[in-house]
Amino acid sequence: MPAEIIDGRKIAADIQADLKQRINHLQEKGVSPKLVTILVGEDPASISYLRGITRTCGEVGVLTESARLPATITQQELLTKIDELNRDSKVHGILLFLPLPGQLNALEAESAISPDKDVDGTNPISTGKLLLGEDTFFPSTPYGVQELLMRSGHDPNGKHVVIVGRSNIVGKPLVGIFVQKQKGANATVTVCHTGTKNLSAFTRQADILVAAMGRAKAITADMVREGTVVIDVGVNFIPDPVTGKNKQVGDVDFEAVKEVAGAITPVPGGTGAVTSVMLMVNTVKAAEKLAG
Ligand code: NAP
Repeated sequence: MPAEIIDGRKIAADIQADLKQRINHLQEKGVSPKLVTILVGEDPASISYLRGITRTCGEVGVLTESARLPATITQQELLTKIDELNRDSKVHGILLFLPLPGQLNALEAESAISPDKDVDGTNPISTGKLLLGEDTFFPSTPYGVQELLMRSGHDPNGKHVVIVGRSNIVGKPLVGIFVQKQKGANATVTVCHTGTKNLSAFTRQADILVAAMGRAKAITADMVREGTVVIDVGVNFIPDPVTGKNKQVGDVDFEAVKEVAGAITPVPGGTGAVTSVMLMVNTVKAAEKLAG
């Protein structure tokens, strides 16, 4: 039987509707949640993500500004900008786009973002708290994966979650989130990477399989057990044989895998649709904390 398609756009709209109510409450207290993004240089993927964030902020009612800094900026100038935003009481969330130009130290810059405003959870303090199961801001993509599962009725509790990919922004935080003895987690977690021998032996054991590899259509139908919930984080562009133009595909061979999976997220319209909304959730949470 073909899989249930988990509709990321519908879930994103539901989250937005919940958020609007929370924003109304804040506005009644005279607080307008505000996110400031910092973009150094002209990285095309970051510019595209910035457009998406700006659009989502507008839809939800979160104020936003972008600090566009030249690619030639020094580390000290970047740190000064972050410090200025940390001190601005009207700013609730700060997002620094990566990658940074080569002369800049990303870890030092991320560490300089106040943990109270670190709405993409990249400060090592936020990462440490995530691993300890303490209250913190989850990075938006892994947070979106958890939200997609919970809102589509696939609670990871007691399930075997197999994650393919161990990046600092997706794979590792997912491990930290799902391993907690908490709501929306409490799973048995396996993480795979390029050092994993016989990958399909692991993916076939998954109740929930999360692909975050950056390899177009790498997860094929024979790697998935019948009934598995498949969450595809991948965003890849490959030429469309019909149009000749580039088209977006995930890390999962969607057409084949949907015939065996129990549920699956499409690309586009799955995890990507939820990511920027989770950034809004974190910004509103930061504003609520500040407003007491
Ligand atoms: P990344 O930093 O390149 O990490 C990829 C991970 O996948 C690495 O851990 C790598 O293993 C592993 N991997 C690659 N090929 C593999 C293979 N053949 N077998 C097993 N493991 C393999 O990528 P990322 O930043 O995590 O992003 C992953 C994907 O998600 C990309 O397509 C990216 O565009 C997308 N993404 C989507 C969103 C969203 O909002 N939907 C957000 C962020 C990223 P090693 O560690 O051994 O190298």
